[in-house]
Amino acid sequence: MRSNTVDNKDRNFQNLQPHQLKQLFKLIFIPHLFWALGALIFLLFTVLITLSIPIMVRYIVDGYSFNVETGQKYLFISCVLVVVAALGTAIRFFLVTLLGERLVSDLRQELFEKIINLSPNFFEKTLTGDLVSRINADTTLVQSVAGSTLSLAIRNTLLFLGGIVLMFSTSIKLASFSLLIIPLIVFPLIYFGRFLRKLTRQTQDKLANSAGIASEYIFAATTVQTNSYQDQAVKEYNELIEDSYLKSKIRVFARSIMIFLIIILVFFAISFVVFEGLKDVESGSFSIGELLQFCLYSLVVGVSVGAITETYGEISKFLGALDRIGDIFNTLDPVKEPTNPMSIKTPINGSITFNNVKFSYPMRKETSALDIPNLTINKNEKVALVGLSGAGKTTLFQLIQRLYDPIKGSISIDTYPIDKISKSHLRQQIAYVPQEPVIFSKSVLDNIRIGRVGASIEEVEQAVKLACAEEFINDLPEGYSTLLGERGLLISVGQKQRIAIARAILRDSPILLLDEATSSLDAISEDAIKTAIDNISGNKTIIVIAHRLSTVRNADRILFLEKGKIENEGTHKELIRNNKKYKKLADLQFL
Ligand code: ADP
Repeated sequence: MRSNTVDNKDRNFQNLQPHQLKQLFKLIFIPHLFWALGALIFLLFTVLITLSIPIMVRYIVDGYSFNVETGQKYLFISCVLVVVAALGTAIRFFLVTLLGERLVSDLRQELFEKIINLSPNFFEKTLTGDLVSRINADTTLVQSVAGSTLSLAIRNTLLFLGGIVLMFSTSIKLASFSLLIIPLIVFPLIYFGRFLRKLTRQTQDKLANSAGIASEYIFAATTVQTNSYQDQAVKEYNELIEDSYLKSKIRVFARSIMIFLIIILVFFAISFVVFEGLKDVESGSFSIGELLQFCLYSLVVGVSVGAITETYGEISKFLGALDRIGDIFNTLDPVKEPTNPMSIKTPINGSITFNNVKFSYPMRKETSALDIPNLTINKNEKVALVGLSGAGKTTLFQLIQRLYDPIKGSISIDTYPIDKISKSHLRQQIAYVPQEPVIFSKSVLDNIRIGRVGASIEEVEQAVKLACAEEFINDLPEGYSTLLGERGLLISVGQKQRIAIARAILRDSPILLLDEATSSLDAISEDAIKTAIDNISGNKTIIVIAHRLSTVRNADRILFLEKGKIENEGTHKELIRNNKKYKKLADLQFL
């Protein structure tokens, strides 16, 4: 099974790391500056009003004891302030929530675009389910934090700091008492916080792994069932889920203890301070209004500390998610776009040249997968690749399409080195029919149009005709509108290949790469595919990974590959005569 290297990177989650801060700005604040700044302004505004309320309470209480009118005047001002604060809070809520929604939509779109453009090397290292989980779960986490928790955390931090300053301005003596108690609350908080963040990270990793495993097994559900492997699959999945549950259990337990301790500590601290304050009221150095004001500030500070601890776990999850999303955005594609791509004159002739090409796969650097010193495939030539499984035939196709770059040497189409032209231009010149064609859960028409988006119905029908797929498509219950089900589960292998050939014909590119199906096709499908290839021969450069005698016989030239090298080349007759290994393979494979 592939290992998830993006995930396994060891990260230090003790504090907000500089790279996380950078990510935070790059992904969240800068693109959504308007919303973020708006929310911040309203947040500051409401914090100021909230902090002024205890002062108003003091004036109301002390004002009433002076005369009723003064008390009423302050009561009225307080009511106005509360209305303004409520309005400010509502606007902040609107801005922050919308920021979260906009953010999650943007992140999902950008992530998908980034992922869908990455080279195969990336997918060899990452489980598909894990990527889907990042697109869904991690972005949702970012949404919930950026769209509420973060603003709560900022608000409570400001209330906490402002509350402390105002406690001191009300009574230095009482505030100093309280300050002695604050470390008692804050230190366990920091310690617990670290512990919680580690656990949170572990839970998230386990969950991402479980999503990877689930999608892999669900994708191959039939294979799992035919091998009676369900119990084992369920066991593997359950172990990961239970593991993540266990981590969550410890985390929830630790948080419960933390909540208990904080409530007790805050309560005792306030009671002690009130007791001391009452003594001052009695001695006349402190008014009852001032004591009330002080108590309210202590309450503000206590509640905001509690709220900060509540948001702590969420924020650490958020940083984890942000990190994982950032990893994808920061993934550098090893197959780079040229900085100044050459413009190409289309239509190209379709000749292909390999010059001193050496290649090994990034995941298996020590083994050479292809070694082709010199090879030219001419315009409109039809070349068959023959060789044992693992000889390097598919690798050759992958290099022509620039899914990987050779380690040494260069490949050109016409006179253009393929790494000097843009990847999309290169791939427009090539149509590829894989051995197991990929069919999407779309209609027949849309599946064929993947070859060329925007092609007219007439063009699609023409391609279908040439691909000998007309008859079976017309027999489908809804013809071209028939939905083919996920991965084309609703049609046979031979039919899938003909749809893929129609797709390739519609693409109308000068080069066609075709990997013949090895699975035994019914005689009709086989004959149809042969006719389809004959139909398009002559005005395209065609390279076929050949599994059939008819294909090698019809080829202008056969390249016989062994262990990544071209062992021999020639026509079928020549190779049968000159190469024992080819003869043996031909006898076994083509009979
Ligand atoms: P063929 O198409 O002739 O059957 P391939 O071109 O698929 O052979 O494979 C050539 C060699 O490269 C084989 O040894 C195969 O195991 C190896 N290989 C293929 N794909 C990868 C990959 N993504 N990573 C590492 N090795 C690979």
